[in-house]
Amino acid sequence: MANFRTHVLGAVVAAAASAYAAKASGLVDGSGTLVCVACGALGGILPDIDADQSVPTRIIYGALGLAAATATAFALYGAWPTVLVALASLVALFSVSVVLRGVANRLCVHRGLIHSIPVAALSGALTATLAARLLGIDPTRAWLFGAFVTAGFIVHLLLDELFSVDLVNARLKRSFGTALKLGVRASPLRCALVCALVVALVQLGPPLDPFVDAVTAKRTRRAVSAAFGG
Ligand SMILES: [Zn+2]
Repeated sequence: MANFRTHVLGAVVAAAASAYAAKASGLVDGSGTLVCVACGALGGILPDIDADQSVPTRIIYGALGLAAATATAFALYGAWPTVLVALASLVALFSVSVVLRGVANRLCVHRGLIHSIPVAALSGALTATLAARLLGIDPTRAWLFGAFVTAGFIVHLLLDELFSVDLVNARLKRSFGTALKLGVRASPLRCALVCALVVALVQLGPPLDPFVDAVTAKRTRRAVSAAFGG
């Protein structure tokens, strides 16, 4: 299994290159590019929320709590009195970094269902839905940010698998195949629930078509290949 630093570095490098392409094709502006990289980095550390009480886990829940507090403040600013906005942000911070962490510690097995492709898709769909519904971000950028979280998540799973290969002794470690997987055979119900949630979020979230159209447009492909010197 790859360590925390490798995960952050891998996700940031992949996200920075993709964000550069997104900016070149006009999908995001300068600040949007930074949000893309932050989303990629978040996705890159997210799968290890199922780990034990380790320092990286504390950092992950701290980062998630801060993200929840910031999103709450942005969503309520102007609509609620400042004192209540600050209070709501603190509640969001506590709910994520303390309550959610406690629940996840009780329910999750490391390298269980959380380390899977359906949960990677779920994290992106949830990001897009929250970005659009809570922060009023337009559908194209909301799904773009969601795609960066999912991509960062997948980079994490790939790195975990890569580090399961012992190149020196040319053998696979026992952890091979426990990260990049479609589900867990022992809990088909939970896998089905995650897939149903992804479908529900695609229905309830912002429309997906503008994002797919923007990403697959000829203009975008031309701008991306020009940006990378193609
Ligand atoms: Zn992992």
